[in-house]
Amino acid sequence: MENKIIIFDTTLRDGEQCPGASLNTYEKLEVAKHLEKLNVDVIEAGFPIASPGDFEGVKLIAQTIKGCTIAGLARAAKKDIEQAWEAVKYSERPRIHTFIATSPIHMKCKLQLSPEKVLEQAIEAVQYACKLCPEVEFSAEDASRSEKEFLYKIIEKAIKAGATIINIPDTVGYAQPEEFGKLIRDIKENVHNIGKAVISVHCHNDLGLAVANSLEAIKNGATQVECTINGIGERAGNASLEEIVMALKTRSDIYHKITQINTPQIYPISKLVSKLTGFTVQPNKAIVGKNAFAHEAGIHQDGILKERTTYEIMTPQSIGLERSSLVLGKHSGRNALKNRLEEMGYDLAKEKLNEVFKRFKRLADKKKEIFIEDLEAIVSEEAMGQIPEVFKLEYFHINTGNSTLPTATVRLLYQGKQHLEDAACGDGPVDASFKTIDRITKFKVKLIDYNVQALTKGKDAQGEAAVKIRDEKGNVFTGRSTSTDTLEASIRAYIKAVNRIAYNSVPNTHG
Ligand SMILES: [Zn+2]
Repeated sequence: MENKIIIFDTTLRDGEQCPGASLNTYEKLEVAKHLEKLNVDVIEAGFPIASPGDFEGVKLIAQTIKGCTIAGLARAAKKDIEQAWEAVKYSERPRIHTFIATSPIHMKCKLQLSPEKVLEQAIEAVQYACKLCPEVEFSAEDASRSEKEFLYKIIEKAIKAGATIINIPDTVGYAQPEEFGKLIRDIKENVHNIGKAVISVHCHNDLGLAVANSLEAIKNGATQVECTINGIGERAGNASLEEIVMALKTRSDIYHKITQINTPQIYPISKLVSKLTGFTVQPNKAIVGKNAFAHEAGIHQDGILKERTTYEIMTPQSIGLERSSLVLGKHSGRNALKNRLEEMGYDLAKEKLNEVFKRFKRLADKKKEIFIEDLEAIVSEEAMGQIPEVFKLEYFHINTGNSTLPTATVRLLYQGKQHLEDAACGDGPVDASFKTIDRITKFKVKLIDYNVQALTKGKDAQGEAAVKIRDEKGNVFTGRSTSTDTLEASIRAYIKAVNRIAYNSVPNTHG
């Protein structure tokens, strides 16, 4: 299809590499499964040489996901490329994505290589990658700040060496739409063998223009866009997948392009990524923000009631938003739960479904109505629950008040056998309990983010606590838990984060 735009999702690579977003292997797989349902063309699953965890994640995704191309990132170096291949080779459609910087500033200051040397390295890398992998993508990092003549030359050579996808990144989010569109047009006009390759773009959002630049590139001949769910990514993030896809769909009169994205899966995956990374979506975020389809002003509400299109350019259903908000109650059975979960994009294995069902029943005892948000919390916690519970909460007791020093006593079960107990005071009940847990685990950690929010409306709503801590080596770990008791949710979230430290500090032994 000549008017098709290839959607290359890099949530698990560029998105995951931004500070504090780190996901474990199982969480990555869960996101990949949702990306498959969303029907993206390509999943960039990670940067295999970056760490053993990254490698395992890419490998597991390549082994499991069947519906998409699985790409692994590699610098233009033999070792990187080998490692990427070792991870993606299990896929039915593997791709190696190799890159080197081409702008004067990057070549001189970062790589400390002459342009000739960069050219040589790029060609070698592409040739080598092509020997291993049937599909190779080449990226000219910082392309938008590169000298055009050099860029044309390196692209031409990369295609000659076997690359069939050429990616033009606006690595630092510097380009302006018109200028970026022209760059794509110029490449089309000046690289004589460009017809043999797909032109891809990868835009960053430092000036808030990542989506605009990507769309402008599409108008000028790019047929692949690299983007992420919720626009997460380095610094100000990447081009947001949902915004690009919905712009192409809603304004097909302008773009005349289609994607194969299953748009009703947009909202579920947005929620999942936000939960797993701990990056909340701003309420006014286009497409997936909480208020994106809320009509508050009287005149607007009146218009909407008379005719939705007065103020609505796309329907909430088209992104999977308007599902019945009341989900299930105390008497709902396993099948009803299974159906709801499937509607939400979760296809759980039997054992997992049983676990979720048990938790659902426990919650239904405490809470009359179970909403989508409650189910989402349970399911994403189950995904996180894959981390072994080195420390398990057995008991906590907190003494607090406005005229007493808050004191917490906590007892944890260590590695399933040893009971460890301690107590500490703090500025408040949460601080006191976190301090107590630190005394027990002996980990030196710093709390860098903590927040609690109500998942739904109502007095019996569950509180969701999210905790981010940093260990001595500077690694960031997230923990998240929900409970109708916010203090309990906070303590459990903290213990989850601590368990991730414990898990991370022992060598990763499973496949
Ligand atoms: Zn990037």
